Amino acid sequence: MQIGTLIKRVKAYLPDVNEKRLREAYAFARDAHKGQKRMDGSPYITHPLHAAMILSQLHVDEDTLVACLLHDVPEDTDQTLSTIEKNFGKKVAFLVDGVTKLSKVKYRHDMVERQIESLKKFFLHSARDLRIILIKLADRLHNLQTLQFVRKEKQLRIAKETMEIYVAIADLLGIWEFKSSLEDLCFAYIYPKEHEDLKQQIEKQAIHHDKLLKSTAQRIRYALKQHTIPAEVESRPKSLYSIFRKMVDTGKSLEDLNDLLALRIVVKDNETCYRSLGLIHALFRPKAGRVKDYIAIPKPNGYQSLHTTVFGVEGIPTEFQIRTHEMHFEAQYGIAAHYFYKQQRHKNQTKELLEKRSGWVHRVLELQKELKNNYDFLDNLKIDVFQDRIFVFTPHGDVIDLPHGANGIDFAYHIHSDVGNKADHLYRNGKSCPLTTTLTTGDTVKVITNKKQKNPKREWLEKAKTTVAKNKIKASLKDQSRTKCYDEGLEFLKKELYRYGCGNLEDLSKEQKKRLMEAFHIHSWHEFLELVGNGNISEQEIIESLYSSAELLGKPRKNTSRYKTPLEEVSYRERGSRLVEATHLQSGPYYRVTLLIEAADRVGFVRDIGIQLATLGINIYQIGVQTADKEGIAKITLILEVMDFEQLRSAFDAIEAVDGVLTVHRISEKPVIKKIHTS
Ligand code: MN
Repeated sequence: MQIGTLIKRVKAYLPDVNEKRLREAYAFARDAHKGQKRMDGSPYITHPLHAAMILSQLHVDEDTLVACLLHDVPEDTDQTLSTIEKNFGKKVAFLVDGVTKLSKVKYRHDMVERQIESLKKFFLHSARDLRIILIKLADRLHNLQTLQFVRKEKQLRIAKETMEIYVAIADLLGIWEFKSSLEDLCFAYIYPKEHEDLKQQIEKQAIHHDKLLKSTAQRIRYALKQHTIPAEVESRPKSLYSIFRKMVDTGKSLEDLNDLLALRIVVKDNETCYRSLGLIHALFRPKAGRVKDYIAIPKPNGYQSLHTTVFGVEGIPTEFQIRTHEMHFEAQYGIAAHYFYKQQRHKNQTKELLEKRSGWVHRVLELQKELKNNYDFLDNLKIDVFQDRIFVFTPHGDVIDLPHGANGIDFAYHIHSDVGNKADHLYRNGKSCPLTTTLTTGDTVKVITNKKQKNPKREWLEKAKTTVAKNKIKASLKDQSRTKCYDEGLEFLKKELYRYGCGNLEDLSKEQKKRLMEAFHIHSWHEFLELVGNGNISEQEIIESLYSSAELLGKPRKNTSRYKTPLEEVSYRERGSRLVEATHLQSGPYYRVTLLIEAADRVGFVRDIGIQLATLGINIYQIGVQTADKEGIAKITLILEVMDFEQLRSAFDAIEAVDGVLTVHRISEKPVIKKIHTS
């Protein structure tokens, strides 16, 4: 490819572009990279040129293109940023600097540190100019397109990092076009076998599906023409990774997924969208409950379209998206559409949309301020910012977005510290429920506060999912008097021992207490409890320093094929996280743990417990129900199969979040407490 190809492409949407400047940037980069080769043997300059080509799809401006051509110069050549600034201006230099990693020399002893510090710098710069993110995405996309030439272990590292960070960014910015390209490319490297299997399966169906789609599209086109509606009707192939995700999430096989046929209709305005919908429904019977009007009520991220699923040719379910050209561009290119696409939109409206799309960048900056430790930063970035989000409404209709899996505690603290600290229980969609209830998109949530309560409960710290909530809880716990901390710590420890079936506090031997204090370098038992109470010592730390996993979970059992999903190696466990992690479920051991639940009896109680555990991918081996006694208290014994302590802990949390649960704790014939663990 030549620079002329790029210029031609750019001129199509930017007729006044300064062609000379683009050529100069190209020549400058080409000379700087002289002698360097890509892994496939081609001259290095092909890389920035291809990246700029990718960017031109977004209709980016001239500075962005110039910066993209120069993006690897300071990092990989002798030319410096200041020369770039002199030749191409401050703006371009700032953009280039944003994507340039920190010096290899300075961080030569810790490359992970360099990686994370560079990422921080990237976000810091991006908060001031979002175009930096676009350059980085195009850079990544081209690197992935040429990843086959790179060493094996590097392939996997890059693919994983892309999935966790850059796919997430493309998603948040609403650039679906990049997102699905990145995902499909990574998919092939992270799950090569699954990718190949699925590809072959899809190819087998392709001919038949194509025929169906063609004849459906033909009938629609004819009908639209009859009503003199100019429209583009195109088939919309679903990305392999999205199909894969769906199979893992629903546990269905490819044959059972019935939304593989998809068509898109693009028309000139809103009114025509509705008219086209009517035409489709007149031709094909719509499936009940599948008509969605995201034009009147856009998705919280701003997405607009009409959706419907109909019984198409041969009665096979076919999905339709109907939208205007403007909506289409916005759906493909997200934030870039607002930035660069000339629209009739009001200036304020554009600003509002931009803020909506980029609000998360500020969340990253706040995380950065709060977290000193770089590894914590990366972990929290993945959870607080990049994990799939849910959108929950306040009673006033304000949208609060939270990471997948967040509960009422997170919600309350996201509204205000005061609301969090005084929170007592929730009204979720008009129904009273515990504060720890897991929320889902679309819920309307009201927090009921207790004016007398000043501080959060100690156990919330483990139950909150977001860093924001955890930090606010910690701050408030630390604010308490030392006596209060001691009392809270004592209460918490008692509860924890009971929860895990470790007996009473009095049963803790001197030796065990000593071991606990030593583990945290503390000299008095009193002080230990204070630190438990103010949140410095966590539940997991306590339990794990007291007991080995054998003492806690019993003897490991060899795994059977019980958890198999259609794609065998992939477990249900990683649901909700963006990357479906292949765990070694087949070979890894599991443990049987017995829990006793006491609950206020009601219809559907056991079902709700089952649903909670199923979403965690935890199998119920046995269940025993003793119906309500005179006081209306039912007792349920469950034998669960868990993989580790972490999963047992989430089982406790999930069960406690079910409405009506009074207590839940582990029971065992031989109390763990009797065994002394020495190591
Ligand atoms: Mn590059």
